[in-house]
Amino acid sequence: MQEKATKNPKIAYVWDSIIEEVLGKEENGKKAVTSVRLKNVKTGAISEMKTDGVFMGIGHQPNTELFAGQLEMDSVGYLVTKGRSAYTNIPGVFAAGDVADSVYRQAVTAAGSGCAAAIDAERWLESQHD
Ligand SMILES: Cc1cc2nc3c(=O)[nH]c(=O)nc-3n(C[C@H](O)[C@H](O)[C@H](O)COP(=O)(O)OP(=O)(O)OC[C@H]3O[C@@H](n4cnc5c(N)ncnc54)[C@H](O)[C@@H]3O)c2cc1C
Repeated sequence: MQEKATKNPKIAYVWDSIIEEVLGKEENGKKAVTSVRLKNVKTGAISEMKTDGVFMGIGHQPNTELFAGQLEMDSVGYLVTKGRSAYTNIPGVFAAGDVADSVYRQAVTAAGSGCAAAIDAERWLESQHD
């Protein structure tokens, strides 16, 4: 990904910086982004960068630390499910969505796996009889 991005002449980088504020304007009842206020975390310098859009990229680390030592996970932290099911290593605990999917990580696949997990959970409860 990094290699692809650095080779793309349309992409420019602002290193060591965080967005402090997204700035915009409102015209005729319509809101639009006009710039972002950036802070260089090494120097503390504040700057403004013109842009008409902001898209957050949040990385690929699944947020599963709270299950460490309980639910089986791979080396990156994705929860491991049995075969195509939502079953985890703990009976009665099911995993669905991005936390259990290192391949697709899309809203529609997450929703589908949520449905599968609900069906698995319902069938598991049925199988418990009492
Ligand atoms: C910038 C961006 C753009 C995207 N664009 C697209 C797109 O165009 N099309 C597409 O299909 N997919 C897109 N995706 C991916 C899509 O958003 C995810 O695949 C989808 O949201 C995964 O759903 P989920 O329910 O598994 O996880 P999430 O939507 O991440 O939901 C997990 C929830 O769990 C909550 N949570 C976390 N920890 C705890 C805790 N300890 N206790 C209680 N709650 C907790 C979180 O607050 C969150 O609400 C995009 C993702 C990003 C970041």
